[in-house]
Amino acid sequence: MRIDVVTIFPEYLEPLNVSLVGKARARGQLDVHLHDLRSWTTDVHRTVDDTPYGGGPGMVMKPEPWGAALDAVLAEGAEALAADGDAAVGDAAVGDAADGDVAVQVPTLVVPTPSGRPFTQELAQELAGRSWLAFAPARYEGIDRRVIEEAATRMPVVEASIGDYVLAGGEVAVLVMVEAIARLLPGVLGNAESHRDDSFAPGAMADLLEGPVYTKPAEWRGREVPEVLLSGHHGKIARWRREQAFARTLAHRPDLVARWQQGAFDKKEREALSVLGLRWDEEQGRFRTTADAVEE
Ligand code: SAM
Repeated sequence: MRIDVVTIFPEYLEPLNVSLVGKARARGQLDVHLHDLRSWTTDVHRTVDDTPYGGGPGMVMKPEPWGAALDAVLAEGAEALAADGDAAVGDAAVGDAADGDVAVQVPTLVVPTPSGRPFTQELAQELAGRSWLAFAPARYEGIDRRVIEEAATRMPVVEASIGDYVLAGGEVAVLVMVEAIARLLPGVLGNAESHRDDSFAPGAMADLLEGPVYTKPAEWRGREVPEVLLSGHHGKIARWRREQAFARTLAHRPDLVARWQQGAFDKKEREALSVLGLRWDEEQGRFRTTADAVEE
């Protein structure tokens, strides 16, 4: 996968050289290109921001450097992919590829913003299926809207938020997203099974958090590893893990429990849910806790 990042702080992306992502780069599974947005400024102060139209606090990122930067990234990336013979696997340019034309390859542009759609495991999975991603992390109050609108006429654009809080800039969000995406790429994790049981792992029940995990020694500071994990009984261990996942999800993310469907659970699991105080409400089509019932 090719990744381009345009930022005013390329040094902020240094962690992309470390650990899992760094190794994926070294192995050639990830081809990361960092670009300094200020390279596309034309004034002596290398200005990237200006005051907002309509007034108000803060500054807004100017459209000209962003437009020029995206033009350059698109041209450079398409040329490199074509030279590598990878052209056929990129996204076709929006509105391109008329009959008989060879489609120009473009990235999916990911714009981190707190006002974007939530960056979820599902979105990470979707983006992991693309061969070329370009990231546009902003600073100040964000990028002039016209940049995003114009980009969307040329390539797929995903505006994504990594959570309900506001960071000073999008670079940290890029690190978060690249790591979540990179670990899903084939061959990046040592054990391909590793993300099968992850919290939010896609499958029959994506709305489930992973339960607790343990390693040696079996006793530490008087605390013992749950006996079932030492039993060697795979069926019992799987059931225990699932029940722990139910309890943890209920404790930390009742909003996910509200999405559970009764049909996703077998008889024993339904018993386990009932022990946790969860009852299926036919009328509302969702599980309700005893606390729900008491409140009403
Ligand atoms: N005024 C903007 C708003 O309220 O939506 C916040 C701008 S924030 C100070 C500057 C930049 O940080 C954003 O443009 C975005 O690139 C990044 N950023 C901040 N919080 C983020 C979040 N939760 N998810 C993704 N990116 C974020």
